[in-house]
Amino acid sequence: MCGIIGFCGYLDAKEELIKGLAELEYRGYDSAGIACYTDRGIEVIKSVGKVEGLKNKLPAKLESSCGIGHTRWATHGGVSEVNAHPHRSGNVTLIHNGIIENYHELAKELEGMGKIPVSQTDTEIAAMLLDSLYESNQGNVLETLRGAVERLEGAYAFCIMFADQKDVIYCIRKGSPLVCCSSEEGSIVASDMVALLRYSKEYFVLPEFQVAKVTKNTITVMDLDGTVVSPVMLSVHWDMSAAQKNGFKHYMLKEIHEQPEAIRRTLAPRMKKGNYLLPDFTEDGITDEVFKNTNRVVITACGTAMHAGMAGKILMEKLLRIPVQVEIASEFRYADPILDENTLVILVSQSGETADTLAALRLAREKGAKTLSIVNVKGSSIARESDYVLYTHAGPEIAVASTKAYTAQLTAFYLLAFRFAYVIGKRNEQEISYYMKGLDEVGALMEKVLEQKDKMKELSKRLTPAQDLFFIGRSLDYALACEGSIKLKEITYIHSEAYAAGELKHGTLSLVTGGVPVIALATQSDVFAKMISNVKEVRARGAMVILITKEDNDAVIENTIFDERLMIPAGDDIFAPFTAAIILQLLAYYTSSYRGLDVDQPRNLAKSVTVE
Ligand code: GLU
Repeated sequence: MCGIIGFCGYLDAKEELIKGLAELEYRGYDSAGIACYTDRGIEVIKSVGKVEGLKNKLPAKLESSCGIGHTRWATHGGVSEVNAHPHRSGNVTLIHNGIIENYHELAKELEGMGKIPVSQTDTEIAAMLLDSLYESNQGNVLETLRGAVERLEGAYAFCIMFADQKDVIYCIRKGSPLVCCSSEEGSIVASDMVALLRYSKEYFVLPEFQVAKVTKNTITVMDLDGTVVSPVMLSVHWDMSAAQKNGFKHYMLKEIHEQPEAIRRTLAPRMKKGNYLLPDFTEDGITDEVFKNTNRVVITACGTAMHAGMAGKILMEKLLRIPVQVEIASEFRYADPILDENTLVILVSQSGETADTLAALRLAREKGAKTLSIVNVKGSSIARESDYVLYTHAGPEIAVASTKAYTAQLTAFYLLAFRFAYVIGKRNEQEISYYMKGLDEVGALMEKVLEQKDKMKELSKRLTPAQDLFFIGRSLDYALACEGSIKLKEITYIHSEAYAAGELKHGTLSLVTGGVPVIALATQSDVFAKMISNVKEVRARGAMVILITKEDNDAVIENTIFDERLMIPAGDDIFAPFTAAIILQLLAYYTSSYRGLDVDQPRNLAKSVTVE
């Protein structure tokens, strides 16, 4: 969470910082601020709300070639100008991503030294601590940072400016991400790659507890003892246009449309055609041994990524016949889970920086389990720290509500399940080849659904006034119902719940009254008849039913049991979540638009949840 940018180079720093912040705004948009070295010292400008507001507030004259910028997602202290970053204390001006957990205790100590904060943030306390350490270490930066690392608990990525070191930015991090690149225009640091793209496709991730000293011409990385180290360089394959709207009204709509391509990109390197089409993880370095010695799978993730995991579980259990469980990462990590070397723990995170998922990964490793992550961002913490990584190639996802990352995660689960089933002899080559062909065709089927988007647009008008809404489904449809519900809540602010359809009558049915919309997913043939009974149950209570079925389902359904019926293209049931997901995403998207809401940057949320 929170966007961080630092620029030191040959261009107008304020312009570069504003551009970077606009690109990073999806990481937090409560307030924004910049600090620049000028001939008059460090100047700080902040404003509440979006980056556009900050831009309008900048003085005409702010000559600087080096500065830092921040878009905030408040954790400590309300949304106000005084709480916006950068924070200044004496010689120190800094921006921060993360949470300083022991800020209260540090604040008490600093208070004893006569230092009183002006804001309510944990960040200002870190600035005060650093300033006090800088003073007691007579301006020695490494001593100062060493002291700070010893004292600060929690997670942080800092970009720090010292008033007496003009045009130098120091960076250090623990937990929260920071990436850096050098280019002809100068040196740049950011909380994610999207803001570096305009300068370079080559970058590095600043390792935890190492210091980046950023100047116009170089970025020197050293450990806390001052030993210079060479960071591992990475590169991205997409360019600036991948992170722009390209004619779409919102990023979310663009990303919904990009799904067929994202899936093809995720499949391509794993689709080696031989006599049979088997998933091939050679380039990923995932050997068959990983599967052979596994007798249990635990999937752990948060939010949408966990919903992808729920579908992954159903598919894996069906094909592998070994136990697969799905755990919310923030619960798993505190539950003292039972794991051993025969357990494969799969961690799913678009950003690869999700704090709870990262902590779950570390715990799983500590307990001796094998870890495999499904991650979209190359070089991210979760990707680096897991034993194996299966990258999704969804490209940058900017809308806060995840769409293409979700279906790319599903793709990764399907690939894993297919290879796994083959390796342990639960499915033969022909069977896996059949599944792989199905997966290969998913992109084209999704395109067909996208062609019908006007239907979803029209139908969304009926959802727009709703106050409560229910999604119901069984099996894979239930996993998808959970995703449909979170999508709708995130961007329309309509209360909704996803229910396993058979569970409704154990309580929730009391909330289904006349006109309440129920989106019923009935794409799975093995539970179709049961699902239709559940639809009839809600219909009998007056629900407004939107029924989603599959074209090749020839069961006769009376048209009195639904208000609207949408169909996904024919195909094997196991691929239904891909196409049905598009329907649910578009319903959420258009309903949010009709409600006049900020689709890409919904209230209180932000992308890349790097706090716990
Ligand atoms: N904890 C800090 C604050 O509330 C930083 C939050 C962020 O990462 O944006 O200001």
